[in-house]
Amino acid sequence: MTIGILGGGQLGYMLALAGYPLDFHFRFLDPSPQAPVGRIAPRVTAEYTDYEALDKFAHGLALVTYEFENVPVEAARHLATHVPVFPPPQALEAAQDRLNEKALFQKLGIPTTEFAAVNSPAELDAAIGKLGLPGVLKTRRLGYDGKGQWVLRRPADVAELKKEFPSAPLILENFVNFSRELSLLAVRGRGGETAFYPLVENHHRGGILRLSLAPAPQLSDSLQREAENQARQILEALDYVGVLAVELFESGGRLLANEMAPRVHNSGHWSIEGAVASQFENHLRAVAGLPLGETRTLGHCAMLNLIGEVPEPGELLAVSDTHLHLYGKSLRPGRKVGHVTVRADSARELSARLKQLPGFFQREEFCMPLPLPVSLSNYKYDT
Ligand code: AMP
Repeated sequence: MTIGILGGGQLGYMLALAGYPLDFHFRFLDPSPQAPVGRIAPRVTAEYTDYEALDKFAHGLALVTYEFENVPVEAARHLATHVPVFPPPQALEAAQDRLNEKALFQKLGIPTTEFAAVNSPAELDAAIGKLGLPGVLKTRRLGYDGKGQWVLRRPADVAELKKEFPSAPLILENFVNFSRELSLLAVRGRGGETAFYPLVENHHRGGILRLSLAPAPQLSDSLQREAENQARQILEALDYVGVLAVELFESGGRLLANEMAPRVHNSGHWSIEGAVASQFENHLRAVAGLPLGETRTLGHCAMLNLIGEVPEPGELLAVSDTHLHLYGKSLRPGRKVGHVTVRADSARELSARLKQLPGFFQREEFCMPLPLPVSLSNYKYDT
């Protein structure tokens, strides 16, 4: 079976690596001739809006999926007239616009931060009048890794922003004083069956994910259940098939949904070594109509993103149960070029192993050193 994937970045790369043992073949479409998947699979270089290229791409495919959530919805809908497309285009549509996404959460009774649409300086004033400050103003579309976001703490920040008011449609959100950021990786099969990975704790620097801890330290059954119930509602409302990532804030012991990604997600990379079936394998199983794989963890993992630089591999790989993934991209500041997963049988052992990592990793950019009480207090999943 040949699966078509829209987008040819590292997520597509890891999907293909997970799919080859299942005898899946892959064909990618990406506008960039440098897309990393070119190393391991046939790749069509074309714009997502080039319908002639899309038709040629779709020829002979069993199904199409995506690794990039900003594929134009019309392109996904067009492909869906020839070949099954999973997750369904309506999921792409819901996730591409922060206002639609938050409205969906609200409709489903999923707690989220207060928000208001903003299209002009006057509407910003009205939204601040309603929500108050501090707030976070975001572009409704195409923002990622903290781009297209402005934190407004005081009236002076608002005055400054108005000097060069963004021309795109915007959303103002209440600033959430969260205690931590979490994400839930969920998967739904073609027959409606679901599975969930344990909540992951995420740490960012400069708006980019740097470190994920899986399972999240101090994870209680009730928090996990709350997250699963929220994700299940989204999966069912969208008749979803594949992996869905839901990003959450934990605040006052409750979860607030921030956003979702209709694809495999950076905060799920640990599952390659840390779960019985990885998020990549499970996405493929789901879209291909196979039984879902087990999401059970194999111990404790820390996933560290490599942003714009890579370590010397020898010293890193000398640390037991440490795994290096490089995506074959050229090094550029701010670019995700690889990741490292450190796995251990207990949180205590994981903490010790992280301390053995080379000096390259013992820096604030990697959120090191981990606060000890956090890394050692995982009562539920500890062995
Ligand atoms: P997003 O693109 O929505 O994932 O936002 C990027 C990062 O900005 C998040 O991971 C949070 O650290 C922070 N952030 C986003 N929205 C809010 C909010 N409403 N309140 C506080 N922090 C936020």
